[in-house]
Amino acid sequence: LIGEVADEMNRPCFVIGGYVRDIFLDRPSKDIDIVTLGSGIELAEAVTTKLGKRAHLSTFRNFGTAQVKYSDQKENIEIEFVGARKESYSHDSRKPIVEDGSLQDDQNRRDFTINALALCLNKEHWGMLVDPFDGMNDLKKGIIRTPLDPDITFSDDPLRMMRAIRFATQLNFHIEKETFAAIERNRKRIEIISKERIIDELGKIIRSDIPSRGFILLDDCKLLPIIFPEVAALKGTETIEGRGHKDNFYHSLAVLDNVALRSRNEWLRWAALLHDIGKPRTKRYDSRLGWTFHNHNFIGEKMIPGIFRKMKLPLNEKMKYVQKLVGLHMRPIVLAEEVVTDSAVRRLLFDAGDDIDDLMFLCESDITSKNREKVKRFRDNFELVRTKLREIEEKDSIRNMKLP
Ligand code: ATP
Repeated sequence: LIGEVADEMNRPCFVIGGYVRDIFLDRPSKDIDIVTLGSGIELAEAVTTKLGKRAHLSTFRNFGTAQVKYSDQKENIEIEFVGARKESYSHDSRKPIVEDGSLQDDQNRRDFTINALALCLNKEHWGMLVDPFDGMNDLKKGIIRTPLDPDITFSDDPLRMMRAIRFATQLNFHIEKETFAAIERNRKRIEIISKERIIDELGKIIRSDIPSRGFILLDDCKLLPIIFPEVAALKGTETIEGRGHKDNFYHSLAVLDNVALRSRNEWLRWAALLHDIGKPRTKRYDSRLGWTFHNHNFIGEKMIPGIFRKMKLPLNEKMKYVQKLVGLHMRPIVLAEEVVTDSAVRRLLFDAGDDIDDLMFLCESDITSKNREKVKRFRDNFELVRTKLREIEEKDSIRNMKLP
């Protein structure tokens, strides 16, 4: 239908970008981007009229774009319309200066070759693929590559560095060598990107099937210490008097992948990634005990809200839940360096309350946790323990009552 309307208006018209990529990858995709020569808004208006009352049009005249939302019993689709454009950038902003352009100009401004594919919708050439950068070949081979000079692409809009890593993670693609080297060279440019946008991309990484891939790439190109220093600080091991400790970065990623394998709960995944975040600050070597992460001030719990504030994450209920899970999971591990008392584990389970299943899940996914077996054992008898504890507490409160 869009092609027919465009033909009536005598306009070249293409579907472009992520939607085309996802057709070839056989991935579900609901957002359709349409590019035409001339005004995208005019085409959107004509398409909305044709679609009738099930279509709703919003126009953004400042940007020269329009969005049509269409819904019927079967589907909800969003179609973005834009006139083909040419973009140029100033150094301190990712907002481009925009001029009208050709389809080729519009493809040049795309971030990756696989996102620059266009399919013609006009009747005469319906379904013709326009692929000036050999994006199809990259799609087949699983390669993320910029269409033009990667240093210019990333410097113009540094968010593209995060997008490269996010696509590589989501699609299990490989970032081409020159493109990856340019991310490392331009990494400091990420500072002009808002924290919210970075968090959006991190969210997409953490929701993917094997999220560790993204964090390893972020670390390899040295973006991680800039955007998430607390996670980067988990990396590394030290040996003193022949005694070493595990690398908490790779350990946290293993826990994260374990959780991701069995649960789509994003907040549990964040908790898995962050569960050891207090350790770099509390770590010390004691010739009697070896490496210990025990600290009475328990800095970890204080750190977590701080991190989220810095990342400008909304401290909504879900984030509070992440904090709680992380806090609960960290406590016995910190205690583990001393003696893990049964009562510490019991208290942990008790504190977890309704989060008990998620906490158990987090503990089970952490295969190195010294408390796993203990927690499991208590979990098996949880209800029993809970009842017993109530009895003990009642007795304790009676025993502890001071006589006048
Ligand atoms: P997803 O829907 O998973 O985010 P997508 O590729 O559809 O993936 P969108 O952000 O919807 O991502 O963008 C649609 C298209 O717009 C992309 O495929 C790409 O061609 C282009 N695009 C989006 N963001 C950028 C950017 N920062 N720089 C260049 N091109 C971009």
